[in-house]
Amino acid sequence: MPLIDLFFPPICVGCARELPSDSSGLCGSCSATVPELEAPRCPHCAARLPAGILNRDCRTALALHRFFAVAPYRHPMVRAAIDAFKYESVESLAVPLATLLKRSLETALPQARNPLLVPIPMHERRLRSRGFNQAALLARVLGALLHLPENEQILARSRDTDQQAKLPHAARAENIRGAFTVIAEKKVDASSTIILIDDVVTTGATMKEAAVTLHRAGAREIWGTAVSYG
Ligand SMILES: [Zn+2]
Ligand SMILES: [Zn+2]
Repeated sequence: MPLIDLFFPPICVGCARELPSDSSGLCGSCSATVPELEAPRCPHCAARLPAGILNRDCRTALALHRFFAVAPYRHPMVRAAIDAFKYESVESLAVPLATLLKRSLETALPQARNPLLVPIPMHERRLRSRGFNQAALLARVLGALLHLPENEQILARSRDTDQQAKLPHAARAENIRGAFTVIAEKKVDASSTIILIDDVVTTGATMKEAAVTLHRAGAREIWGTAVSYG
């Protein structure tokens, strides 16, 4: 049994039924209601992104080379799972959600060089009130599932910001500007693909700001990954 199962027994994202270990994050009957999770849409132009590949304009607009996500936020099952994970702190959902993330990312992974998972950090103050950073928990579980390194000591949230979800789309880029700092420049390896992890990406403004900050510190290739988008 993987170590992670001792802390969080695998459960289904849809119905919370217990699952055998190393399962897909969905039980058989929930799987049947989601026949095929489609390629996600680009947060910038809304085109479908098979293999996560962004076109040149969108790479510039998002500061990312690729973007992966499991399902749109309006998908009822994904929405219920994300909301419970994020707002009701149902930490055990990290395993099935990360398992779905793994599924969206793994076929492209051989094209990443020395991949390193980096969660979108949360400001200390928010962390204290919420108890855990859901992006960091997803990154840890995903790292364990994919046998990839994960680092929460590279990027920090230096400025507390208004919650992006509560702001109109047009105000989000401004709100998040300058919110991140690279705390360990030496650990930013230009030869490595940094894979940023978040739970939800809407406009992509938060992920972009994190990516821009990492690019300034020397990162070359950055991918973005989220459970849900839109
Ligand atoms: Zn189920
Ligand atoms: Zn696009």
